Formats: sequence, C-alpha cells, structure tokens
Amino acid sequence: MCKIETLKLPEGYEVYEKSIDTFEGKVFALVKDERTREKYLYIEGEGHPGFIDGEKIKGGLLFPKNVENAYKLSEIFPYLKARPLGIGEPSFGFGDRLGIATAGHVRALGNRKVRPIFAQQSIREMERTKRGPKEVMADAIWGVFQEGYRDGFGSDADHLKTEEHVKNLADAGFTMFTCDPSDHVNNNVGRMDNTQIKEAFSKLEGGDALLAKYEGKKVKIASEEIVFDYEPLIKAIVKYKKAIDHTERMYNFAKSYVKGTFDFELSIDETDEPTSPLEHLFIASELKERGIKITGLAPRFVGDFQKAIDYIGDLSRFEEEFRLHIEIAKMYGPYKISVHSGSDKFSIYPIVGKYGEGLFHVKTAGTSYLEALRVIAVHNPKLFAEIYTFSLDRFEEDRATYHLTTDLSRVPDINILSEDEYIRLLDENDPRQVLHVTYGSVLTVKSDDGKYLFRDRFFDTLKIFEDEYIKVLVKHFEKHLNPLEG
Ligand code: ZN
Repeated sequence: MCKIETLKLPEGYEVYEKSIDTFEGKVFALVKDERTREKYLYIEGEGHPGFIDGEKIKGGLLFPKNVENAYKLSEIFPYLKARPLGIGEPSFGFGDRLGIATAGHVRALGNRKVRPIFAQQSIREMERTKRGPKEVMADAIWGVFQEGYRDGFGSDADHLKTEEHVKNLADAGFTMFTCDPSDHVNNNVGRMDNTQIKEAFSKLEGGDALLAKYEGKKVKIASEEIVFDYEPLIKAIVKYKKAIDHTERMYNFAKSYVKGTFDFELSIDETDEPTSPLEHLFIASELKERGIKITGLAPRFVGDFQKAIDYIGDLSRFEEEFRLHIEIAKMYGPYKISVHSGSDKFSIYPIVGKYGEGLFHVKTAGTSYLEALRVIAVHNPKLFAEIYTFSLDRFEEDRATYHLTTDLSRVPDINILSEDEYIRLLDENDPRQVLHVTYGSVLTVKSDDGKYLFRDRFFDTLKIFEDEYIKVLVKHFEKHLNPLEG
C-alpha cells in the first residue's frame, strides 16, 4: 500500500495499489480509512453514475463497499464479473464463508494455470452464515478488485437442491451450478440384500427399460472392462435413477433460465457408499443420452473425506479409482472430476494433479475460516478461547449434517493450555473438526441484548491483522496448490 497523495486524497487514507484502474479517464481504486480500517471504493472527480451513497472528499468520492456498488463496478471492469470456466483447464474452488479471504486466495493462486473460483457457497453455508448469494458474490468482487486480479474467475453455486435455488443463484450472477440430487439418491441400497433390491427395482417406474438397455453391456475403460451384470446394474438403477431424473429437471431449468453459457456440476459425493466405476458409467451414459452437458461430476470416492483433515484410506485404491473416474469423464464428456471436501487432503493432491490431466476440480471452503481462527488464536487469544469453548458446546448439534468421526475425548480443555499453545488446536484433527463445523453458530450467535457474541470482535481482529490473514492463507493454499501442479 502507498499513501494516497498520488490520487490527491486527504490524509489518513491508504490505497490498495493493485486495485487502481481507470475508466473514461477517471481513476478507480480501493482505499482504506486508516482510523476505522473501513474500506471504500474511491472514484476520482464527480464519481460515476450508478454508484450509490457516495461521500465527497478531496479529489473525488468515496463509496461504501456494498452489494450494489460491487455489481456496478463489475459492469465497468469485466474482469470483476464471474464467468463460466468450461473444461479447458483444471480449477480450484476457494470458498470463503467470511467474505474477506479472497485477497489471500488471489495471492496464493499467483500465476498458476489452475482456474480459480472465488465466489463459492453452498445453500447450507448460506443458511448457516445468513449470507445471501449476492453478498457472497460482492465479497468476491471486492477481493478480486483489491488484488487487481484481471484473469477472470468462476463462481460456484454449490449443492443446489431445487430449481428455486438455481433461480436465486443465477439471479446473483453465478455461472456454475452444482446440482445435489442427494434427496433423490436411494442410500439404503448398501444395507439391502438382493431380494430387497429386486423388490425396490420392481417398484421403480422406468427401471425395466434401463435394465433392457444396459444389461450385458461391456465397456472398456483403460485396461479394465466393466460389465453391466444384472445385480450391480439393478443396484445402480435403484440407487441413482430418481437422482438422474432430478438432475435432468435441474439442468433443463438452468438451461431455460440462465442467459448465456454456464457450468453444471453433478455432485453425488454426500452419499453413504463410494460411487463405483460401474455406477459412474451408468450415470454418465444416461446424462449423455438425455442431453445433459455436465462440466463436472463429484463422485463419492473410496476412503474417507472428512471435513478439515487429510484423506483417510488406502491411497493406492484411491489412485486406481480416481484414474478410472477420469477415464470415464474423458469418454463421456469430457468433464471434470470434482473433489469435494477438498480442503486439507494433502496426501491425494499429487495423485489428482498427476492423473487429472487438466480435468479436475478441487473444492475447499471451511479451511479459510480455520485459517482466520489461526490469526485470532495468535493475536486475540482471549476471543479464541471463548470461541473454542462455545464451539465445543455447539458441536453435537452443528455436526449433524457433516460426515465426521471426531473423538471428543481427544479435544483438550482449553483452560489447561497456555495462550501460546492455542495454535496447536488448529493442527490437531479432533479440535480442528470441532472448530470447523461450528462456524455458522460462531458468526451469528447473539447475546440476550441482541448483540453479536463474537462476530464483531472476530471481524475487527481480522481487519487489524489483514496482512497476517493474507499471509497464512497464502502459506496454507500453497500447500494445496503446489502438489496439484502434478
Ligand atoms: Zn460436496
């Protein structure tokens, strides 16, 4: 940052130099009031039509960093408008539940060839953080503007379950729709015996036609031959037929509603059992036949993908199946294989990078919140201890929709730790997961007098230590991105 004198602003403002751009001869920049640490959009001269709530200062106008001004700014500078990424290059999702992590994400990305998604939020996250899609998009825009990132970014409306979700996210300018048909997946098949599966199959409308179409079919993938034998086939039909139908409805809705091109991912990662290559083949083939052009598919991989910690499972099996998934994606798309719950899965990144052949996507989200807690643990340990204690209280309730095997007996009592040991809690699996799933409660809980219990102090700390937060994010995401380079 440099002093704003060059832009003829009064004392007390700093400019984010990389943000400086010009339009119709006027300078636009992101600036910070040094006293309040509040950031503003500065426009030289008389401002520009369409921006709202400007305040005159020497040399120009200061506009609040709100949703309307973000969208307006993205009309002026096209690099601030989210765009579909397609399938030409691998991509990486930098979910940001706080709305302040994008600057760090941009810097971690550097000039790697992997394409970034900076606006990414699932419906569940939006409900928990009480942030709407436009706020998510606006925060990404401000972060990209701050860093002067001009190469374009994607936006992922994650885990959408209904057409209404697609509509709301499309209205906010999202360009990738991740369809989550999990409510229509029959997860019971894993616990059913053959008689029960046959019975469920006989009740399924349209099941016979699928059986006739696929039974006995053989597909060669790499060196393997996958045969659609009767039993695994009817299991796949019972498990996924309705989910495929739902995906078709969602896709056709998106196609009719969204103007222009969009990315469409199918996520079946949140199911009980791994997606077998045969199941993937069945789904891919059906999608293709129905004219559903996906740009990505998120299988449920073998092994355990728990939130916030490394992969648990047999790496050679993961490698074998990941390669098959990629082969199927090449044959029936091509589309990307998407790795959900992709934060902190350090042991699989080299495999994803090596065999992904540019056709992979990795999604992260919660890990940027945990890195914010790392800054708080160091610079505001008192607040950290309060959040930690609260998170432990909330854990049982908040973990409900997450897949975790957290052992609470390994979560230490913070009162027996010294402040400089707090940081350790962010590097141990069990306390890490406790902190990971409670973000929504931490950010939104209020005390009896209606004031936020943590939220304001949380964000204030991160405003003061903005550079520190960027630094920890860069370090953390380099650990993700470097091994993915293959
Ligand atoms: Zn997912």
